[in-house]
Parts: sequence; structure tokens; C-alpha cells
Amino acid sequence: MVDNSATLRSRIDELKREKNAVILAHYYTTPEVQQVADFLGDSLALSVQAQQVDADIILFAGVHFMAETAKVLCPQKKVLIPCPEAGCSLAESCDARDFAAFKARYPDHTVVSYVNTTVEVKALTDICCTSSNALRVVESIPADRPIIFAPDRNLGGYIQKLTGRRNMILWDGACHVHEEFSLEKLLQLKAQHPAAKVVVHPECRAYIIAVADYVGSTAGILDYCGRSDAEEFIVVTEAGILAEMQRRYPAKRFIPAPPDDETCGCNNCKYMKMVTLENICACLENESPEIVLDEEVRKRAERSIRNMIAIR
Ligand code: SF4
Repeated sequence: MVDNSATLRSRIDELKREKNAVILAHYYTTPEVQQVADFLGDSLALSVQAQQVDADIILFAGVHFMAETAKVLCPQKKVLIPCPEAGCSLAESCDARDFAAFKARYPDHTVVSYVNTTVEVKALTDICCTSSNALRVVESIPADRPIIFAPDRNLGGYIQKLTGRRNMILWDGACHVHEEFSLEKLLQLKAQHPAAKVVVHPECRAYIIAVADYVGSTAGILDYCGRSDAEEFIVVTEAGILAEMQRRYPAKRFIPAPPDDETCGCNNCKYMKMVTLENICACLENESPEIVLDEEVRKRAERSIRNMIAIR
């Protein structure tokens, strides 16, 4: 098979210059996609970055809800998504109509939703959060005010444990990648590498979080690995982050934690891997597919995202 990635990279660079476009990419995309990005980050950093870029076009190399978030914050810019089929199992675990019915049962609750939700769910939300700031967001709400936390039951449970809040109701959603890690295999790996630190994303199940040396967002994990004196880390999150870890800390060793079924490749987010140099190039050429939102929904979603950014 002919490797035409150099040609694609140079055409993408040309198109970015011609069209005054920037590419924002999530850490979970493939290394070759990360290479053509102008900004690389986790959900929170990319939401903030989207507002600050001086460009006419933002191409979001990530999953659908991320591109929607960029459009919510930058309605005047053209926001492109190279692969609109790239969804998110966590966002899909919270249907907006079901969520509206659920919310109606608890009218006095403040709604906190993870950014991994559709724009329609964000429009039903008071404050969004990411795994970077979920604790600060929940702590910003008066202790006597009850909370609905959606959609990730693992992150919600973790925050509930940290804050000791009993008045928090959790939506029963999860991410297929972070739910699949095997405790047994993780402990075997830890026995083989006793000096390694175990770093875990809070979307993992509670029994995985319980054996972590550090629990945090993608950005938090990256910082921790840089600060720590350890030379080896067992990484319990989506494996795409390993490329950035190795780039930042070439002298350290990063070992991906295995999922329960190692043949399924489930520690790789299949949706993030749907973004390729080919679909990025075609998307910039055609300026399509583009994210288009209903203005009323967008405005309501914007309020909840801005409330989150204010607590950053
Ligand atoms: Fe969604 Fe999970 Fe993929 Fe993140 S890793 S985009 S939460 S499916």
C-alpha cells in the first residue's frame, strides 16, 4: 500500500493557509492526526482554545460533541467535523428526551453535565464540567442544594466520594473505553512493574480508581507524569494519550493498561480513530461537513458551557 501521508500533510498545511483555518485535535486521535494539529488538548483546553483562535474556520479533529461545543462558543466561525459519524458512547448514553423527563422529576436540583453530551443535553444543563474541573464545579454549588450529575456514573461517583455529598443523583451512563479495564490484569501488570505509578482517568470504574496512585483528567495525568520522580507509569485511560506522553517525557516509560478482552482493542476509542488525514483533507477542501445548530438550543447550551469556563 502506498503511504501518501506526507502528500496529505502538505496539502492540509496549504489548505489551512489558504482558508485561514486551524485544526484543534484531541489527545485521543491518532499520532498522525495529532501531527497536523495547531492545538492539541483535552476537552476543557480545546473549548477554551476554540474561543481564542484567530481563524475563519475551525476544523475539530475529535468526536461530534467536541465540534458542537466549539460551534456553541464560536457561532460566527465555520466549524468543520471531518467525520460526523465519530460519536461518543458516553454522550450517546444520555438521550436528551429521556434526560428532560428525568430532570422534570427533580425540579429543585442543579444540573451538572459533563461536556461529553449532545448540545441538546447541554441546553438542559445549569453548569457543564470536564474531568479537569468536575470537583471545582460541584464544590461551587451550595452544599444544601441537590444536584443531578450526568451522564458518567463513574466520574459522578468519584466526585461524590471526594465531596461526601449525599444529595447528588447520578445519571446511569458510561464510556465504553474506560469501563473495560480489567482489575485482574492491572494488578498483574503492577506486580511485573512494582516501581510504576498507576495513573487513572476518573471515568474508570470505582474498583480501578481504588488502586490508583493518581486519578485525574487527561491533562492532569500528563502533568502528574512530568512532576513525578517515577520512571514508569501504567496508564489507565484511552491509549492515544501515550503518544503525547512519550513526546513530552521521552526518558520515561508508559505502559498501557489492558482491557478485559485484549483482542477487542477497547482501550482505543474507535470514534476518535475515525478521524484520518484523508477525511481532514477532504473536509478542508470542501468546507464540509459543517456543524450547524439551532440558535435557541445553542444559546441555552452556551450558558452552561460559559458557567463551566468561569469556574476553570
Ligand atoms: Fe467518548 Fe469514551 Fe471515546 Fe472519550 S474515550 S470520546 S468518552 S467514547
